[in-house]
Order: sequence, then C-alpha cells, then structure tokens
Amino acid sequence: MAEQRKRESTGSGGTLRTYRAKRHFDRTAEPRGSAEEGGEHPLFVVQIHDASTMHFDFRLEVDGVLKSWSVPKGPSSDPHDKRLAMPTEDHPLEYRDFEGVIPAGEYGGGTVIVWDDGTYRPLSHDRRGRPVPFGEALRKGHASFRLEGSKLRGGYALTRIRGGDGSEREAWLLVKEDDRLARQHGGPPDPRRARSARSGRTLRQVAEHPEAEWRSDRS
Ligand code: MN
Repeated sequence: MAEQRKRESTGSGGTLRTYRAKRHFDRTAEPRGSAEEGGEHPLFVVQIHDASTMHFDFRLEVDGVLKSWSVPKGPSSDPHDKRLAMPTEDHPLEYRDFEGVIPAGEYGGGTVIVWDDGTYRPLSHDRRGRPVPFGEALRKGHASFRLEGSKLRGGYALTRIRGGDGSEREAWLLVKEDDRLARQHGGPPDPRRARSARSGRTLRQVAEHPEAEWRSDRS
C-alpha cells in the first residue's frame, strides 16, 4: 500500500474542490479522487489522528465523497455523551484506506490509524415516514444512521448546533441513539492504546514503522 500524504483544513463544501485546490497532484502521492463506484451500502471510516491535538476523524460516504468531521473525544456508544464534531473538508473515498504518517511540518502532521470502518444505513425520514436522501438530511442539519462497523454499531445521529447559514463555522454533535446497542460509559479506548481495525497496530507502532505491510486479520 503506497503511503499517502494528507492535509486538512477547516473548510466545508459539497465537492472535492477545496481538497484539490490545496494540493499539487504532480507533486504529492495523495489521491486526487475519482468517480469511484459506490457499493450497495455507503461506507464509513473513523481514523485516529495524532496531530497537534489528538482527535478522531469521522467520515461518511455521501454522494461520492467522504463527508468529514473532527471529533476531539471520539464517538461514544453511550447516548448520554454528546460529542462535539467539527466539519472538515470533504475527502476522496480513497482516504478510507489511509493509515500512516503525515510528515512533520505539513498541516495535520502526525500519525493516522484506521480505528474503525464498515458501512452505514441512512435512517432519516420526513414527517410522513418517507426516507430523506442522506445529503439532504445533512444540509438540513440533522441526519440519523445505523453504523455497521467492527467497533461502532447501531444508531447514531449528527445534529448541527451552530452555523449552517455561512455566517460562522459550523459545529455539530455526534450522539448515539438509545437502542439495544447503546452502552453506558461507551467512550472509545484511550487513543494511544487503540488498535487499527485494518492492521491491528497502535499509533506508536505505525509511527515507528510507517512503511510496514499491513498484516490484515480480515477475511
Ligand atoms: Mn484529522
């Protein structure tokens, strides 16, 4: 797996225009992003990013890109926990595979592991019970969905609590829904002890051997 470099910004938007504008694809190995075919169910990925401040990057496939939020404390499976989620720029679908080290001095410099990944089912419905397209639900500021990952499972919701009219930076909350998969004290493990869903490695192991082959345990 070729290492890919990654930068971040605080922008948001519905396309990869912001992502691409920041990069010179004749100089970087990062994916430009193509019109990749979506699967039967849209994908999600949660990466742990040991940057200037440790955070989780929560990404959902929507309309051909990964809509992205930076979640400082990470997702919780306890419905009482309201986790702040700050939108970041859309990323290409290929970013779900990124695990490695962003060079020091680059924006977002630090180590990234894929903490969890899988698929999700959109759950948002209108008042008449009809399904609402997921992108439309997000534009309106509230989307619920069921995650089917190796760690995160069950219903979750993202709700915009600030911004949305372009006047200030958006802020969202990521909250577990109270279903049979809800747990008390449901926070993620210490990010420094957490292991990659792809390679089983910790942040430290990836940092020490960023070029190491994945030893995938997945069938
Ligand atoms: Mn990040």
